[in-house]
Amino acid sequence: MSLCLECKKEITGRKDKKYCNQYCKSAFQYKKNKVNEESFYTDVLKQLRQNRKLLKQYNKAGKAIVRKDELLKNGFNPNRFTHYWKNKKGDVYLFCFEFGFLEKKEGSKTKYVLIQWQDYM
Ligand SMILES: [Zn+2]
Repeated sequence: MSLCLECKKEITGRKDKKYCNQYCKSAFQYKKNKVNEESFYTDVLKQLRQNRKLLKQYNKAGKAIVRKDELLKNGFNPNRFTHYWKNKKGDVYLFCFEFGFLEKKEGSKTKYVLIQWQDYM
């Protein structure tokens, strides 16, 4: 005996059927997509908050340099940011809310220059 994924009623007919009819199938998939959409939003938001927390934690003086590994190890994800700012030299700082970072290679090490958002940016 199998139950419809949508309405939980017993399904009659073929054993491999997952829904009792097309309506139940559409209803179930619509809800599933909605949940996926919301979970993407929630995940991005969670990551942005985590990034901001780390940038803040490592940047107590308003400006700092930290090893990239160190941030990644603690759960930093550089692909999640809210906006960017380009300085006159053309360096592009990525921001998570009011805390920004710029990737810089120093020999074999990769570092982040951390800054805080300023009114002139
Ligand atoms: Zn059903």
